[in-house]
Amino acid sequence: MADPHQHPVAAPGTFPGFFGPDAPSDEDLYKCVHCGFCLNACPTYLETGLEMESPRGRLTLMKGVAEGRLAMTETVVGHWDLCLQCRACEVACPSGVPYGRLMEATRAQVESQFKRPFKERLGRKVGYNSVLTSPTRLRWVGRAAKLYRKSGAQSVARKTGLLGILPGDSEHLDESLPELSDRFFLADGRVVPAKGERRAKVALLAGCVMTLTHAPALEATVRVLSRNGVEVHVSAGQGCCGALNAHAGELESARKMARRNIDSFLTALPDAVIVASAGCGSTMKEYAELLHHDPVYREKAEHVASLTRDIHEFLVELGMRKPQASLDYTVTYQDACHLANAQRITSAPREVLDAIPGLKRVEMPESAVCCGSAGTYSITQKEMSRRLGDRKAANIGTTGAQIVATGNPGCALQMTSALKRQGSGTRVKYVVELLDEAYSKERGG
Ligand code: SF4
Ligand code: SF4
Repeated sequence: MADPHQHPVAAPGTFPGFFGPDAPSDEDLYKCVHCGFCLNACPTYLETGLEMESPRGRLTLMKGVAEGRLAMTETVVGHWDLCLQCRACEVACPSGVPYGRLMEATRAQVESQFKRPFKERLGRKVGYNSVLTSPTRLRWVGRAAKLYRKSGAQSVARKTGLLGILPGDSEHLDESLPELSDRFFLADGRVVPAKGERRAKVALLAGCVMTLTHAPALEATVRVLSRNGVEVHVSAGQGCCGALNAHAGELESARKMARRNIDSFLTALPDAVIVASAGCGSTMKEYAELLHHDPVYREKAEHVASLTRDIHEFLVELGMRKPQASLDYTVTYQDACHLANAQRITSAPREVLDAIPGLKRVEMPESAVCCGSAGTYSITQKEMSRRLGDRKAANIGTTGAQIVATGNPGCALQMTSALKRQGSGTRVKYVVELLDEAYSKERGG
């Protein structure tokens, strides 16, 4: 429970508490019965053993602040910030505490009431409210990052120690710079026809970071859908789904992004909206909650949420075509938190892998423990992120797998860098890339 030395508890009503339309609801907050079943599911509790770094501890702080007994201090916010929003606690909780919703609402309160240091505020303004909101600006940042790498500026900055003297944590930002795809994936309005008889028509979310870092996985998704008789609309006008903003408490910008995507997807009149990134799918399935106060978009948001399908879920529901060619790989599958915990999808990706002849699938220990990626967490909470990344890489290592398969760009980036740090030869691939590879090996390609 709350450490009284760190979090002096006052009489109820002493501090302002939570307020406004996005405040955590009492109904959600008081569902917790303090049983502690969630503790050992929580990655930050597993790493620290501290109550305040557990779901129950963080909920205690939320209640303390909501009742005006606790101030929203830097320490209190720090405990909330260390939460990965992986939602493993939701799965473990017998009382149905909607922890993800509570933490999103709490973070929105933090952003409206708590003054973060200037550097952080600037980073958030630029990152969440300027770059992520504009696919064009995002691509410019991607191009600049490529140039920084390819021009040799990165190696000069590293060799000369320039990064160490620049303001802010430039060394960490430099280290966090992911590999970028040779060609970015564009939501350009193209329509890719179904191969053979058309079984469905779908809109595909391109997303934000994935378009820059894992464009080949998105292209593979389009090919796999087409090969399964699905017409794919990569509708123009779409952008980031808003997940990163929503998780960071930037709800208004997340809502703007959701509205833009809803309009874009609905132009295709799709049978489903397909998402190849677990984190995005989870947020889009919750668009109705995000826009429940919006009289114009509420119904459209409900409609798009009901159409949203994770790619693996969709392929299994559709009855995917089993590939004829085999892949001689040993593969372990990493459960992305927003697929396993938020969308409760664990069997569909495994079924897709198991449908590939020759592929041997092995389970890793702690597959459901977060890899430490969690959106921007690897930038904002580098130490815990690295610890969890190393834990994941060690668990992958015990399987002897040549490939670790995933369905989420954040996990793919995090596992790639953690495996590299450990000198591992295990490669990271999307499940759908493996399926695409098997299809492409069939006669006629
Ligand atoms: S969301 Fe994940 S990190 Fe946060 S409290 Fe729950 S289990 Fe722990
Ligand atoms: S498992 Fe649920 S009810 Fe029990 S302490 Fe955790 S959040 Fe509260």
